[in-house]
Amino acid sequence: MRLNRYISNSGICSRREADTLITSGVVKINGKVVTELGTQVEKNDKVSVRGAAINPESFHYILLHKPKDTITTTDDDRGRKTVMDLVEDVENVRLYPVGRLDRNTTGVLLMTNDGDLAHRLMHPSYEVRKRYDVETANTITDDQMNELRRGVTLDDGPAAAYFIERINGMPNQIRLSIHEGRNRQVRRMIEAVGHEVVHLHRSDYAGLTVKGVRPGRWRKLSEKELNELRTLVKLFKTEVKKTDAHRPGKKTLRKPAVPKRRSDRL
Ligand code: URA
Repeated sequence: MRLNRYISNSGICSRREADTLITSGVVKINGKVVTELGTQVEKNDKVSVRGAAINPESFHYILLHKPKDTITTTDDDRGRKTVMDLVEDVENVRLYPVGRLDRNTTGVLLMTNDGDLAHRLMHPSYEVRKRYDVETANTITDDQMNELRRGVTLDDGPAAAYFIERINGMPNQIRLSIHEGRNRQVRRMIEAVGHEVVHLHRSDYAGLTVKGVRPGRWRKLSEKELNELRTLVKLFKTEVKKTDAHRPGKKTLRKPAVPKRRSDRL
């Protein structure tokens, strides 16, 4: 397979941008820099871009607006509706949810077949921000909000909201942000201060929202959004530098953007 196709199939950029990456000297095959555009990748070759190994599998990344009454599981033996049913039509690939939302929680759910990114996003050490809009049956007092801010004790350890506010001054609606994603964490935090959640909506996941996406529908992440996620979890940035990508004309593209080092020519 041609090198530019291999790179773009790995999901990090377009084929044209892959050409720019190749000519700018940041692509290696089996540890050696390759700047020739027509280079072919053979079966067992290892390709890296800016030092990070890439995979020929075609990766897809979508944002689903999870509706109520849908289970975040890959299959349900009781035949209930799952998030997988909602993304069946995505590029004929099987996408997996990044973390989970309860059956009746609505809002942002990322889905991908990029296991490395998914794993990092779910790992607590990267402190990915999740914001929830919570409606409770009864009034939440200011004291209870402070308790949530200071932290409550759950059976799997303490949990605190690092941000909390009322939604439009409503007595029974709050917005809170947490970094972790433990099982039923928000519901359990709310229960810990004596309330019951009647509606839970994830309004933000790592800066991504459901704006413009109706419940049950999905959209693809843009390259910018993907870059931001990758940067957040310390995967390399796929962005092609403006100085490399936006020089018009084939001639410029064929010219390496950085001078060749002696070792590159060996
Ligand atoms: N916290 C919960 O309690 N439920 C969710 O679905 C997500 C976060």
